[in-house]
Amino acid sequence: SAMLEIKNLHVGINDGTALKPILRGIDLTVAAGEVHAVMGPNGSGKSTLAQVLAGRESYTVTAGSIRYQGRDLFELLPEERSREGIFLAFQYPVEIPGVANIYLLKAALNAQRVHRGEAELDAVDFLALIRDQLRRMGMDEALLYRPVNQGFSGGEKKRNEILQMTVLAPKLAILDETDSGLDIDALKVVADGVQAMRHPERAIILVTHYQRLLDYIVPDRVHVLAQGRIVRSGGPELALELERRGYGWLDAGATPPE
Ligand code: ADP
Ligand code: MG
Ligand code: MG
Repeated sequence: SAMLEIKNLHVGINDGTALKPILRGIDLTVAAGEVHAVMGPNGSGKSTLAQVLAGRESYTVTAGSIRYQGRDLFELLPEERSREGIFLAFQYPVEIPGVANIYLLKAALNAQRVHRGEAELDAVDFLALIRDQLRRMGMDEALLYRPVNQGFSGGEKKRNEILQMTVLAPKLAILDETDSGLDIDALKVVADGVQAMRHPERAIILVTHYQRLLDYIVPDRVHVLAQGRIVRSGGPELALELERRGYGWLDAGATPPE
């Protein structure tokens, strides 16, 4: 059965005066082993979808259902979702001075292990595991000891995000490539990380409006979001078509030409 099954999902955001509808009937099914790209113009609701899956606050689900591994996702708190294998890169709105990156990583991994009935990794074992991973990713160990989010460059944030994902080995990985510019170097970090994470028992949702990213990662399915709806789904060729034609012809309600 599907790892993730989203049916008729409607989500709103309270903008201070009213509940503003953002997602307006999303249907999406993702099976283990698949990589799905969710694309679409700025403001179409891509990040909202990612945030709702992770259980971030400030979104109101007004209709629909999400099943994850056969369970009602809405019954799980954000930290339970994480322990159950859902990963959305930690995206801290503020820097956390004095809290080293490595502590958050270790805490997150150990929370998962305890949940699975496994022993916690001590500092020595954790360091061995993470050093191995850093070596493979060509990352500087110094990143581990930097305070969370403080002064990370774009490329370092991406490396850190991929490192988090790799260490936590999620069942459902959600990457939201937000609108802040990704240079080629950062794109390759993400692409290599995602390729390395492909696994028959893992699903990956790659949210992006960068067609270029899909030059490096060939997704199984591509979905285009416009105005809170999936207006087109297809194979990897859809991403190429978007590169040629842009998003205009796919606006919700519009009839695609020819
Ligand atoms: P995308 O990731 O595709 O660019 P988002 O999910 O970030 O789109 O945003 C979808 C819509 O929701 C946009 O119109 C955006 O302005 C609106 N939105 C997002 N966050 C808020 C918020 N906190 N308050 C009001 N509107 C918001
Ligand atoms: Mg945006
Ligand atoms: Mg976004």
